[in-house]
Amino acid sequence: MTVFTPAARVARIKPSPSVAAAARAKELRAAGADLVDMTVGEPDFDTPDSVKQSGIDAILAGDTKYTAVNGTPALREAIRRRIADRTGIEYGDDQISVGGGAKQIIFVALMASVDNDAEVIIPAPYWVSYPDMVLANEGKPVIVECPEADGFKLTPDALERAITDKTRWLILNAPSNPTGAAYSDAELAALAAVLERHPHVWVLTDEIYDEIWFEAGRVSSIVKVAPQLADRTYVVNGVSKTYAMTGWRIGYGVGPRELTAAINKLQSQMSSCPASMSQAAAAAAMTGDQSFIAETVAVYKQRRDIAVEAINAIPGLSCTTPSGAFYLYPNCAGVIGRTTPKGEVIENDLDFVLYLLDSGVAAIHGAAYGLSPHFRISTATSTDLVEEACRRIAAAVAALR
Ligand code: PMP
Repeated sequence: MTVFTPAARVARIKPSPSVAAAARAKELRAAGADLVDMTVGEPDFDTPDSVKQSGIDAILAGDTKYTAVNGTPALREAIRRRIADRTGIEYGDDQISVGGGAKQIIFVALMASVDNDAEVIIPAPYWVSYPDMVLANEGKPVIVECPEADGFKLTPDALERAITDKTRWLILNAPSNPTGAAYSDAELAALAAVLERHPHVWVLTDEIYDEIWFEAGRVSSIVKVAPQLADRTYVVNGVSKTYAMTGWRIGYGVGPRELTAAINKLQSQMSSCPASMSQAAAAAAMTGDQSFIAETVAVYKQRRDIAVEAINAIPGLSCTTPSGAFYLYPNCAGVIGRTTPKGEVIENDLDFVLYLLDSGVAAIHGAAYGLSPHFRISTATSTDLVEEACRRIAAAVAALR
């Protein structure tokens, strides 16, 4: 019998820990466990009916064929308007890529630009996929820890120290998964000043949570604050989070022409184009009535407030208030070293989330995001479940010795 051996690029990476944790929570619940699942990274809301109808209409109208590799004219126009509105920059058709989610766009952008151990600076805590995407594409992730005391944000000094001759990219993600932290204009300007001294470093800014924003005004973007960096900045976004469209799989990226050409060349050999009916639905979502965003953000904000207050009331835990997205990243330093009712000592954040799992709450340990001791909970469940999860976490911590 022949034994399958995966390619080296597969052996180098691990499956997404958040996808694995969510799958495990689903399994346990299917087996009858009384579990509140706080692992999910997708809106609990359904895609708006009008957007669903646009997808159905597209199918019925025969919109069921390959499209251009960089998307239908309608989707490209929607992307162009959206990005211009957000950044003040007009991107041409040859500066736009569309793919099966922002995830695919980021992967292919790295595939198009990284090899031979090129370094990619990833501020931690980070979205779990970045380091593995870099590794899969023969790059070297350079993790820079951004402690809670710095608001989980990269400082100009830390950026300066991390840059070498081999640095290809800096990845920024704000509002952040897992912390909800975001940079102010002044903070982005200070990072941009460092980058101006290092013209070989490019910036990938993952803005997938930009609309899920709880502060005044809008979350900033480095390409808006520092348009002089536009010729080496790649802006990534998508419809998954904003419009509760995770399953439709549409994400996009805009940036320099040469990079876009390389990405689109790869896409042409990889997938030809994302699903035509999903593109129609995404274009409709981006150009139609936008009230869904304000309605859902109000709910996410209410859940955030409930959860932050509840977690901060638990002795041993503390939580910074997220500015956006739908996650909390509480600090659990105060429970490390304590003992569970079963007599097990909690030595790290993985032990703590396993204890929480026994206590009826599924969360994800901070080590998966590159900064411990923390854990991530998602508030993209119902408000009742957020309250119930917080009660269970409080009871679990109270039972520690
Ligand atoms: N970036 C971040 C930070 C995310 O959290 C996610 C989804 N978990 C993505 C990108 C990918 O989103 P999608 O592929 O659904 O567009």
